[in-house]
Amino acid sequence: MNTANTQMVHCRACGREIHISAPTCPGCGARQVGAGESERLVLPAFVLCFFLGYLGAHRYYAGKIGTGLLMLVTAGGLGIWWLIDLIVILSGSFRDIDGKTIKRWT
Ligand SMILES: [Zn+2]
Repeated sequence: MNTANTQMVHCRACGREIHISAPTCPGCGARQVGAGESERLVLPAFVLCFFLGYLGAHRYYAGKIGTGLLMLVTAGGLGIWWLIDLIVILSGSFRDIDGKTIKRWT
């Protein structure tokens, strides 16, 4: 079953029906979020992780409160988990609580 060419979504800004693969709305020009792509941004996640990663701040940002608290009590997995998260965030493959990838910079 291939529905890739017929999948339509509604523009986040104006509600107009547009193709799911359209990066921007042809009607109003608003940027669209792709399937499996988080609305959360890489930069705040990275900044939070860089400065407050040992507190799990970037994980609260991603909605992952549980592992955020775990990071807090383990001091970022003694720094190792912190370092791994920093790299994963920078590479654009960090996931939020919904399993969506945080890869947008703007
Ligand atoms: Zn629109």
